[in-house]
Amino acid sequence: MEFFIATKNQHKILEFNAVFNNLNIKLISENDLLKPLPEIVEDGSTFQENALIKARFASKITNMPTIADDSGLCVDYLNGAPGIYSARFSGENANSQQNNSKLLGLLEGVPKEKRTAKFVCAIACVFPNGAEFTVMGECKGYIDFKLNGNSGFGYDPLFITEQGCFGTIPLEVKNKISHRGLAIKEFEKEILKYI
Ligand code: IMP
Repeated sequence: MEFFIATKNQHKILEFNAVFNNLNIKLISENDLLKPLPEIVEDGSTFQENALIKARFASKITNMPTIADDSGLCVDYLNGAPGIYSARFSGENANSQQNNSKLLGLLEGVPKEKRTAKFVCAIACVFPNGAEFTVMGECKGYIDFKLNGNSGFGYDPLFITEQGCFGTIPLEVKNKISHRGLAIKEFEKEILKYI
């Protein structure tokens, strides 16, 4: 059986492949398509909505069972921002360095106990017959006062958990506790009802 994953992100494809290999399912990603997918407008107001928008859109085009995820960082002191806008927090083509600088600036002078935050990941799965489901994963921590380490991506160098900073801990450790790792675990349970 083949599934489509609506991403070009090699890091995500690797994480999903670890699950799908066990289930004897082959994953086809955007990198395998001869023609790229048209740009998808992610105009949902939650992580779940955006993951569903991506998965429905790509399933219609590929006519395959399709998975898509949407993730981001929610900071309590900022009332949940950047949330679904995490990738473009400091502008449409913002890079991680710019996003992290903006976050540190907004939290300047804010004490540790008020810097609590969580990473959230929603995964949507849509079948050509219209069946669909979503699962979620969350990881709690706080935002440090400075950047740490070079591993990971995005806001990892600022996000501290009980296991350490996402920017310094090994990927295997991050995957066990991360929002995406936990959502994938939920996904693994749910998908068995459909295949
Ligand atoms: P997307 O799910 O690929 O759209 O990711 C949204 C944005 O959230 C990314 O560009 C990152 O800035 C941030 N993000 C999501 N997951 C992580 C993570 O595991 N570590 C660091 N940043 C993340």
